[in-house]
Amino acid sequence: MIRGTTRLVGLLGWPVAHSRSPQMHNAAFAALGLDWAYVPLPVAPPDLEAAVRGLRAMGFVGANVTVPHKTAVIPHLDEISSIARAIGAVNTVRVVEGRWIGENTDVEGFRRALAETGLSVRGQAVVVLGAGGGARAVLAVLAMEGAKEIFLMNRSYERAARLVAELSETFPQAGLRLPPVHVLRPGEFPPEGVAVLINATPVGMAPAIEASPWPPERPFPWGLQGVIDLIYEPPRTRLMALAEAEGIPAFNGLGMLLHQGAIAFTLWTGLEAPLEVMRAALSGS
Ligand code: NAP
Repeated sequence: MIRGTTRLVGLLGWPVAHSRSPQMHNAAFAALGLDWAYVPLPVAPPDLEAAVRGLRAMGFVGANVTVPHKTAVIPHLDEISSIARAIGAVNTVRVVEGRWIGENTDVEGFRRALAETGLSVRGQAVVVLGAGGGARAVLAVLAMEGAKEIFLMNRSYERAARLVAELSETFPQAGLRLPPVHVLRPGEFPPEGVAVLINATPVGMAPAIEASPWPPERPFPWGLQGVIDLIYEPPRTRLMALAEAEGIPAFNGLGMLLHQGAIAFTLWTGLEAPLEVMRAALSGS
C-alpha cells in the first residue's frame, strides 16, 4: 500500500505504458516487505528537464530512464558513472545525498544474461544487428568479454560508422578496448564462422511480429552457435524461430531486462534483488 512514508522510484520514458518494469520492481519490493513503490512516468522529450527537476523536488529516491531519454538525461544529472559515459547512455539514476548519479545497468545486465545462455564470445566473431542504444550496451559487453571481431549490420551505414568512431574514443576512458568492428554496407553479410548473432533492432517486436531483421530466405552463417534477440515481446520472435528451425539455440531479451532491473534494485535499496520473484513477475504478464 502506498502511504506517506513510501519511497518512490519511477520510470522516465515516452511511451512507458508497455513497460514491464513496474510489475517487476513492485513485486520485488513486496517480496522483501519494503515500503517502496515504482511508478511509470510518461514524459515527452521537451518536458524532460522539467520532469527531472520535479522528481528531485518531490524527493524521488531513484529512477530508470528509457527510450528516448537515455542520452538526453545526461546533462540534467550531477554525476555519471564511467561505463554510462563510455556508452553515452544512462538507464538508471541513484540518488546519494541529493545528488542524482547516472548509471548504466544495461551493460552488466546483458553481460549476466549472456552468461546465462552458456554462449561464449571470447575469441569469437560476433554479428550485431542495429546501432542504437541497445547495441551500445552489447558492444561494451563484447569488449569486456574479449570478442575477437564484430560485424555490425545496420539499416543506416552512416549511423553505425559514427557509433564505432564514437565508441573507439569513449571506451578507453572506461578501460575498455573495442575489438575490430567491420561495419557492413547494405546488402553485405557476415562471413561463415561467426559464433553468435545478436539482434539489437526492434524489428520483429509486437505488433509487427512477422518481421525478421535477418532475411528469412537466407541461411544463417555456417557455424553459428546461438542467436540472442534483445526483444522480449513476443517472447519467441520470428528471428528466434528461424534460428531454432536450423537447430541453432535462441534466447530472448527477458534475461537482459531482468538483470538490468536486479542491478538497479540493488543500487537503490542496497539489498540483494529477489531474482526469482522478479523473473516470475516478468513472465507472468
Ligand atoms: P534505438 O536506439 O531506437 O535503435 C534502434 C536500431 O534499430 C537502430 O540501429 C535502427 O537503425 C534499427 N532499426 C529500427 N527500425 C528498423 C527497421 N524497421 N529496419 C531495420 N533497422 C531498424 O533502439 P534500442 O533502444 O537500441 O532498442 C532496440 C531493441 O532492443 C528494441 O526492441 C528494444 O526493446 C530492445 N532492447 C531490449 C532491452 C532489454 O532489456 N531486453 C534493452 C535495450 C533494448 P537506424 O540507425 O538506421 O535508424
